[in-house]
Amino acid sequence: MRAIKYVTAFVACLTFSAAANAEEQGEKKPFNAKLVVAIAVDQFSADLFSEYRSSFTGGLKRLSSGAVFPSGYQSHAATETCPGHATIMTGVHAGRAGIIANNWINLKVKRDDKTIYCAEDERIEGTSFGSITAEVQGEYIESAWHLLVPTLGERLKKISPASRNVAVSGKDRGALMMGGREVDAIYWWKGKGFATLNGQSIAPAIGALNNEIAAKIEKSRAPYAIPARCEARNRNIVVSEKQSVGDYAFQRPEGASRIFRASPDFDGVTVDAALALVQSMKLGQGEATDVLSLSLSATDYIGHAFGTGGLEMCIQMSELDRNLGILFSALDEQNIDYIAMLTSDHGGHDLPERLQEQGLPHAERIDPDLNANYIGAQIRESLALPGDEPLLHADSPFGDYYISLSLDEETKATVKAEAVKLLTSHRQVHSVLDSADLAAMPMPQGPVEEWTMAERARASFHPDRSGDFIVLLNKAVTPIAHGGPGYVATHGSPWEYDRRVPMLFWHKGITHFEQPHSVKTVDIAPTLAAFVGVDIPADETDGRCLDIDSGAGNSCQN
Ligand SMILES: [Zn+2]
Repeated sequence: MRAIKYVTAFVACLTFSAAANAEEQGEKKPFNAKLVVAIAVDQFSADLFSEYRSSFTGGLKRLSSGAVFPSGYQSHAATETCPGHATIMTGVHAGRAGIIANNWINLKVKRDDKTIYCAEDERIEGTSFGSITAEVQGEYIESAWHLLVPTLGERLKKISPASRNVAVSGKDRGALMMGGREVDAIYWWKGKGFATLNGQSIAPAIGALNNEIAAKIEKSRAPYAIPARCEARNRNIVVSEKQSVGDYAFQRPEGASRIFRASPDFDGVTVDAALALVQSMKLGQGEATDVLSLSLSATDYIGHAFGTGGLEMCIQMSELDRNLGILFSALDEQNIDYIAMLTSDHGGHDLPERLQEQGLPHAERIDPDLNANYIGAQIRESLALPGDEPLLHADSPFGDYYISLSLDEETKATVKAEAVKLLTSHRQVHSVLDSADLAAMPMPQGPVEEWTMAERARASFHPDRSGDFIVLLNKAVTPIAHGGPGYVATHGSPWEYDRRVPMLFWHKGITHFEQPHSVKTVDIAPTLAAFVGVDIPADETDGRCLDIDSGAGNSCQN
């Protein structure tokens, strides 16, 4: 036992000599914290932050009083939840992390179901693609094995095994992509309560909370009081004959666990789960620095179900602010020395029906015929190819398209050329990028807002997982052909409204500053790492440390 401890300490000294020397000499490092609280608010765009910033009085007000980077970027084109979460704690672009989208296709996988979910392990027999929008999220085994690089929590554990790496989220992929493979506790919402890794038992503190939540969902919920600032947004918008949004205040019938997710209460219970773990595991009170990754999903579910511009999002913004206030107050009460960071996995875009009434008449839904099946069938007909097997495979109308493996090389090239021709001539398609060109490109550098479309796509490209070509839609095209319950608006484009997210850092005693220049979410891990005395080698990150000390001190030279 002693020998193991000695070896571990020796390795830590070698790798992190500066921090270790400072400790040996009894120097207190100028910057430090016992707990890193890394928060991702799902779909919290820079636009939402800016729209509601002046109204925050709780946790978001506190974060806005620290180091504020209003132009953070999820740099890549695939602005979805899994790639976004994968950049935050790893410090590398989504493609380098291996997370090219929420879902992708692997035509070589042994099972019948060729669609792969980013946070599953498809190697396990009997699994199938658990659709993220399906009624039942079953059939797959949650796993972070697709994530190819370590997270900050994993790095800390390697240096000091006493360090705990904990992740909590409303979504499995949120927790798994921020926590990584080596975690001490990890929980996400599944159906009616918080669940954990297959084969692991639920901690008593979470079990007790699950019972409380179940009792809460059993009861009906009265509508939220409408804040005065939300009145102007309280207006009914018709999406279809059966569907309208804009004036819902989250009243809920008894036992409505499904719509519970798309309500502010969902973030409330996720914060409760995080605090239950902070208390039961005494996070931030051990000998080493701990990491708590917290991904709050209600903003995203509300954005998808009701859009970003109505009463629903307005109520959610004040409730998010309040729930974050509860989190920070509880950490303060326990005298925990923490550094808090908040960002988002991607931005978002309102539903076209409301945008059309608000100065954006060209906002529209995607042409239902713009999809892999339809385009593939057209190509089969025009080339007079025999058979009826799909020529093209894709999980959504945009992003990665894969060409059938059953074609010979020559036919494959012809099909590809035909598909690119058909797609690029479509009025809603901005560009179609060839994977061979992306594979030959270096990872882009320079100001992220000036990146070309190909550079954006390169940042979420992985040669073994990406499609044969990648389809990018025009600005203000919503890739949902027909809005339905729970799904009227979305994100996922290479455009600024989906890429730009706030990046906020706060610790006790921080002096406020605002840096409007663009920064990237891949800068977060090196910034937090340096703050707690960990060096991420330059060749292991696509980001850079941001000095969050506004004065002469430099939190990057810690
Ligand atoms: Zn998301």
